[in-house]
Amino acid sequence: MDYNLETVVSWAKRKWFVYPGSDIYGWLANAWDLGPYGTMLRKNILDSWYQTFTQRRSDIIPLDAAILMNVKTWEASGHLSNFSDPLVDDKNTGERFRVDKIIEDVIEKFRKNKSEEEIINQLKEEFWVDNTVPESWTFEQMKAFIEKYVSKNPNNWKEANWTDIRKFNLMFKTFQWVTEDNTATIYLRPETAQGIFVNFKNILDTMRVKIPFGISQVGKSFRNEITPWNFLFRVREFEQMEIEYFVEPEKDAFYFERWKEDCWAWWTETLWINKEKLRFRDHEEDELSHYSKGTTDVEYKFPWWWGELQGIARRWDYDLTQHQKHSLVNMQYTDPKTGHRFIPWVIEPSWGLTRAIATAMIDSYDEEKYTDPKWNEQTRIVSRFHKNIAPIKFAILPLMEKKQELVDIADKIFLDLSKEFMCEYDGKWNIGKRYRRQDEIWTPFCVTIDFDTLEDNTVTVRDRDSMNQIRVKIKDLRDVYENSEKYFN
Ligand code: ATP
Repeated sequence: MDYNLETVVSWAKRKWFVYPGSDIYGWLANAWDLGPYGTMLRKNILDSWYQTFTQRRSDIIPLDAAILMNVKTWEASGHLSNFSDPLVDDKNTGERFRVDKIIEDVIEKFRKNKSEEEIINQLKEEFWVDNTVPESWTFEQMKAFIEKYVSKNPNNWKEANWTDIRKFNLMFKTFQWVTEDNTATIYLRPETAQGIFVNFKNILDTMRVKIPFGISQVGKSFRNEITPWNFLFRVREFEQMEIEYFVEPEKDAFYFERWKEDCWAWWTETLWINKEKLRFRDHEEDELSHYSKGTTDVEYKFPWWWGELQGIARRWDYDLTQHQKHSLVNMQYTDPKTGHRFIPWVIEPSWGLTRAIATAMIDSYDEEKYTDPKWNEQTRIVSRFHKNIAPIKFAILPLMEKKQELVDIADKIFLDLSKEFMCEYDGKWNIGKRYRRQDEIWTPFCVTIDFDTLEDNTVTVRDRDSMNQIRVKIKDLRDVYENSEKYFN
């Protein structure tokens, strides 16, 4: 079943997955802090990504470049001149809006009573555009659209007085001291990719890599989004997991397809995001970033509409050529067999870690009716996410906290299992309430230590999804995790 965003966000806040950023000072709009369970979830998603795309790949090596970079990087990459969004101000209130987002909201309303084909026909007739992606339209087309369909300010629903559409650079500007009374402008990086490109030569000179090979990096990026919105989906500070994959010129089409397959497999078979809610979307020609010859996005059907989780771009030799021009450092690779020298072409799969965290929460949230023998019909909130991604793997629950013998065994089990698994000890409340609490935070297995444990070293393991309970030896708990299908189905 689909749940609205408010329901999921309220659960995520209640269950310590996220906190509003700077909360005690009344929040900094759309900044979020990850709470304890959100932090664990982030680590599990990141670990799974790192294992899949770096640890298990002999052709990919990791890097961790600095966030602050020489400003010439951004001149060379084109971000200083091109990395912008179209915006308008409402002259009546001074508020600023991203035009493409306002238009998308109106198109979303059209969808309530028109098919996609009907909408495109209407847009063609009225504005000479043949798609519903305003990012690819000209400023004139966007202006004509808002003049016709957006007469009111979306925040206060009063008549708006729009300025012309202008470009707004998304990079966060800051200042660095050069001398005691003189500063230089620098920028917080808007993508992690450039840290990889500027280190390409270092890697070539030190790592004996052979094409095709990739460099992976995870880190914070910053974009001064005009209208951050929808929870963690569009924030100003977020994390990316990026790979620049270097291939022979002209061979990028082949690797592009391969990367699409690998990325799809990670989303659907490692993170287990619902396949029905995922799709690829090719960028329209006019929508492509300044560096791209072709981009496909992996999109998820969020409660509000499809949104991008990841971009896979054919960046050809744009970045390395630009850095060669601006730094005068030779970025050529020499083929060890033929001696042929060339600037490699690049495929860039770029995942949003922050969006992956939001998607995991939204995709797994469920409310389920079940019959409790004592209380009849009940509803439980249960997050059905794959055990590998669950923040806590085992909840360790002594039946009665007053009985020290039970607590001692619980402590021992905790110490043993926590060498490999994130576990949580909980001795408060009755056991049913403790199960419910663990259901809400994803925990796949609850382990109850009771008086029989003292006799025969067995414990009750309760499975989150089926709610079935089995009795197993303490020494078999690891096997329950590894081979849970054998025990519960
Ligand atoms: P969008 O079109 O949604 O603004 P983008 O195409 O500009 O995204 P990319 O530059 O391709 O995004 O960045 C790669 C990934 O980084 C995106 O797929 C997304 O998951 C993530 N990302 C980009 N901007 C943000 C943001 N403001 N907040 C959270 N994640 C983001």
